[in-house]
Amino acid sequence: MDNCLFCRISNGEIPTKFEYEDDEIAAFADINPKAPVHILIVPKKHIPSIAEVTDEDTELLGKMIMVAKKLAEVKGIANTGYRLVFNTRKHAGQIVDHIHLHLLGGKVLGSMA
Ligand code: 5GP
Ligand code: ZN
Repeated sequence: MDNCLFCRISNGEIPTKFEYEDDEIAAFADINPKAPVHILIVPKKHIPSIAEVTDEDTELLGKMIMVAKKLAEVKGIANTGYRLVFNTRKHAGQIVDHIHLHLLGGKVLGSMA
């Protein structure tokens, strides 16, 4: 999608340092990090949110989690632990309407909600 921020970042239109990239997925640091490690794992396919995924996206979602797991190892937070988050629509505070998996770690994150 032409006017989608994460489409433009993941397809290289907006130059960004990738922590990981393959044909289907790009991962890059969050611009406003909430933890010492805060990386966004983003599919190159435009999907607005988890609410719009279909069965055909199952493998892609699994790959996103595997990228997060491997980045956690690379960043040295696998042993201490980390959080993976898909904010979905308004009540979760989703502000970018292109699916992204947050990888957060490097400190004690506190309990959810
Ligand atoms: P959401 O609340 O939609 O799950 O989170 C969107 C995230 O994208 C936020 O944590 C925000 O800091 C991040 N973000 C917004 N704009 C940009 C940008 O232009 N570049 C990067 N790297 N991250 C962004
Ligand atoms: Zn998009």
